Amino acid sequence: MRIARVAHSGAISFAVIEGDMAVELDGPPAGGIRYTGNRVPLAECRILAPVLPSKVIAVGLNYPSAAELLGVPVPTEPLLSLKPSTSVIGPGDPIRKPGDVKILDHEAELAVVVNGLVRNADEETAAHAILGYTCANDLTSRDLREREGQWTRAKGYDSFCPLGPWIETEIEPLGLRLRARVNGEVRQDANTKEMVFGPVQLVSFVSRVMTLLPGDVISTGTPTGVGPVEPGDTVEIEIEGIGILPNPVQAAG
Ligand code: MG
Repeated sequence: MRIARVAHSGAISFAVIEGDMAVELDGPPAGGIRYTGNRVPLAECRILAPVLPSKVIAVGLNYPSAAELLGVPVPTEPLLSLKPSTSVIGPGDPIRKPGDVKILDHEAELAVVVNGLVRNADEETAAHAILGYTCANDLTSRDLREREGQWTRAKGYDSFCPLGPWIETEIEPLGLRLRARVNGEVRQDANTKEMVFGPVQLVSFVSRVMTLLPGDVISTGTPTGVGPVEPGDTVEIEIEGIGILPNPVQAAG
């Protein structure tokens, strides 16, 4: 099942995508799917970020290729940072590059969406707490990260977390081809089976640090190949079996 958040006729709702139709839900999908009975053509909808998380947890160095490139060991525990809810944007929304960011890197990532309140979950409980998966672009200012030695500002600007185009609920998350393209040129091309910690392990681990709320997102890290984007570029994240998340880059005015 593909679950999107759509704007149609001045209203915003969650919807299940069935072919070229959006089948409206009466609320967020976390916790249960309830239909309103309304169906609208997808072509008449604007697709928004598929989820409104209270927080986005970004996992660092979760692909050996990324650790290798930086010359650091693969972590023995997941390395976590937070992106604020206000950094989330949807497909087609502009990524705004601030004037005080010199190098803004794209990071193609598989994002896990949680379907309920999760706290101190073992892996079996964590597996049942996953609603589905979507594409994420964990935009990161390389210069701020290096200069400040921590990641809040580097990853936290408004628009630094494109998510979408929808949540795929029936997919095996390991073994998916993951790509980033900038202006059509492939910059990252890897497979989610390379991840050090898989989605279930990550949900369990994070839930023992902080309570996850319905709709919270864990972005599972990026493989090698990250690189800068500039105003005028379009960056696309594509994950096999999920879809394509395109975003133009603009200068923040
Ligand atoms: Mg990342």
